[in-house]
Amino acid sequence: MKDWKTQNWFGHEIEAGSHQNVDLEISESYSGRNISIPLRVIRGSKPGPTVFVTGALHGDELNGTGAIRSLLADPEWGPSCGNVLMIPVLNVLGFERHSRYLPDRRDLNRCFPGNASGSMATRMAKVIFDAVVAQCDFGIDLHTAAVRRTNYPNVRCDFKNQECLRLAMAFGAGVLLDGRGPKGSFRREATLAGCPTIVVEGGEVWKVEPSVLECMTRGIVNVLKVLEMIEGEPDVPENQVRLKHTKWVRAEHGGFMDMHVSPGSTVVKGQPLATNSSLVQEDHNRLEAPFDGIVIGMTTLPAVQPGEPVIHLGKLASPKTARRVEKQTQADDMQRTAQEHLSTNMQVTEPIDCEPSESEPVE
Ligand SMILES: [Zn+2]
Repeated sequence: MKDWKTQNWFGHEIEAGSHQNVDLEISESYSGRNISIPLRVIRGSKPGPTVFVTGALHGDELNGTGAIRSLLADPEWGPSCGNVLMIPVLNVLGFERHSRYLPDRRDLNRCFPGNASGSMATRMAKVIFDAVVAQCDFGIDLHTAAVRRTNYPNVRCDFKNQECLRLAMAFGAGVLLDGRGPKGSFRREATLAGCPTIVVEGGEVWKVEPSVLECMTRGIVNVLKVLEMIEGEPDVPENQVRLKHTKWVRAEHGGFMDMHVSPGSTVVKGQPLATNSSLVQEDHNRLEAPFDGIVIGMTTLPAVQPGEPVIHLGKLASPKTARRVEKQTQADDMQRTAQEHLSTNMQVTEPIDCEPSESEPVE
């Protein structure tokens, strides 16, 4: 560990118990100017772990940016032990264009741990990896659903990694998804490099949604409490659901979609999820739940073609589990509010009587 009293972060000497806004230089522009990531280093007065919190690694995913900024709005906020690196926008070049991607259309979240002599994206990834991940003990990476979709707030990590699972449970979103993440993704490579990192997904692109912000700020504070960097008991729901399998239910026919569920809904096998029909209400085709589950994501665009993803369902063990999960999400103020807010953001209707949609039989 670096000497605690004074530490050099990104070229600045920062005293224990103080904080400083600094820039991490990551690239150079066409006009030869430096391109840098603005961040705040917050140092506790006593030694402890160093944690990074990142938003907008996909430059259009702003709920995490909103959550980080709302914590930074209080200049007194921070840990009493350890360091926190608060990075509202990691992908500054994507952010400048309201885009998920870098200007060369690469996904920065597939370029880690990076390469000092590679493409622009892998060079940036390398700088971030060396300057942030290699200096940290734990990480929280905040995302939203991709464009035209929304997510019920959930935490994703490798359940086999005990430290990741501990952070994910501590975050307390209520819904956890197993998986290491795609190759080259920030959290997968950071975890592999010895910095256990979780991903949080919630809401939509291009917005700061109040209930998602609430979940994310609560989660960040909860993690810091469990790591004993902030005093107090974490505000974590009594029961959380761990999902190992998920499936996108896809449209079988083209048409306009009427939704019968919303983010966070629990469903039983065979329950109507959505119905699509022609613009003048002909040819109704119903999509049904292939198993008992919870809606962790869905499309926000109500027009579909065959094969397009409509509902992302996390698999639950039985109808009894579905009822239990529904009760436990309703028992947590944060989750109940998230369900209410996200469901009033889209039209949800009762299913009408029609045949379920079926794929063409394969000869
Ligand atoms: Zn993302």
